[in-house]
Amino acid sequence: MGQLNAGIVPVTPFQQNCTILFDMDDKRGVVVDPGGDIDKVLAVLRDNAITAEAIWITHGHIDHAGGAMELKEALGIEIIGPHEADKMLLDNLENQGRRYGIDGVRNCVPDRFLAEGETVSFGGHVFEVLHCPGHAPGHVVYYNRAAKFAHVGDVLFRGSVGRTDLPGGDHAALIASIKDKLLPLGDDIGFICGHGPGGRFGEERRTNPFLT
Ligand SMILES: [Zn+2]
Ligand SMILES: [Zn+2]
Repeated sequence: MGQLNAGIVPVTPFQQNCTILFDMDDKRGVVVDPGGDIDKVLAVLRDNAITAEAIWITHGHIDHAGGAMELKEALGIEIIGPHEADKMLLDNLENQGRRYGIDGVRNCVPDRFLAEGETVSFGGHVFEVLHCPGHAPGHVVYYNRAAKFAHVGDVLFRGSVGRTDLPGGDHAALIASIKDKLLPLGDDIGFICGHGPGGRFGEERRTNPFLT
């Protein structure tokens, strides 16, 4: 097993960080949150000779899940996650696409929903599933203990937190998810998030105005 690496492909008008997690040695991995611009995602996989084994979804918003079915069909791989509480969002993506004027969006039907405490993996890279509601009711975070890394989706951003004014949003639940589940993992955990630059939990614990 080689080192865990991550590449980011900004997708959709929301510039969402579609993230390719892969093993440096065998170049096998997963695509996290292919919200759209699937041609671009496929080109990055091809240009870097990365084989995607699955699609992992953090939550059911259009910029994260809107292109998942297209990528699933292009590669013949499964969609894993998020938590089932986001089914109502995943079933409503085509309506959202029309509302935001985004073409090619399809409702997302995961092959498997995830629950707190489960693990998902590729190669020997194991990720624990943390159910972190607040931004979306079924939001999950993928945490790799060995690599001290978490993909936090839209739960936490550098210097900010996920918005909670969308259907199913709950600000108190969001802050509880961050303070009770993410920050206790340790100050040295590095994270990638759904929008903008990633960071470290310690920096957020000390300086994020939503958490101090
Ligand atoms: Zn979102
Ligand atoms: Zn987002």
